[in-house]
Amino acid sequence: MLLTPHILLGAAIGSKISSPSLVFALSFASHYFLDALPHYEYDISGLKKKKAEKKLLFEFLKLTADFCFGAGLALLLVWNSPFRTGAILGMLSSLVPDALLFLSWRHPNSKFLKFFALPHRACHFLKNLSPAWLDLSTEVVVASTTIFFLVYYV
Ligand SMILES: [Zn+2]
Repeated sequence: MLLTPHILLGAAIGSKISSPSLVFALSFASHYFLDALPHYEYDISGLKKKKAEKKLLFEFLKLTADFCFGAGLALLLVWNSPFRTGAILGMLSSLVPDALLFLSWRHPNSKFLKFFALPHRACHFLKNLSPAWLDLSTEVVVASTTIFFLVYYV
């Protein structure tokens, strides 16, 4: 799934729960839940390779744009909230599974990273299905629902 829906859901979780450890756990788990839904993913296969290729820069730019858009939007929505710190913790925690997956590509022999990478791969079986608009609609529904929540309930 794109980073933006993960970030927005993490912000929504963090904006309503006062316990930082619970925010971390729920936002972390929400990542796997969202990845189990039918969703669109852009190609980041160049990041899996150890050797730098031309497409690596383009993939890195896609990820950066996705992160900046999602984090910027979430921060805009929670900036004046008394729960801003929790929301930021939720945003960052929701991305930890992808960070661990990236690290597992770089360190394939790490049992610790494999422990998190295996369930991550297992819940990714409904990605990039056809038609593409169906996958993207899941992302739009998740993003718009969490935006609605952040606007009206935070
Ligand atoms: Zn993921």
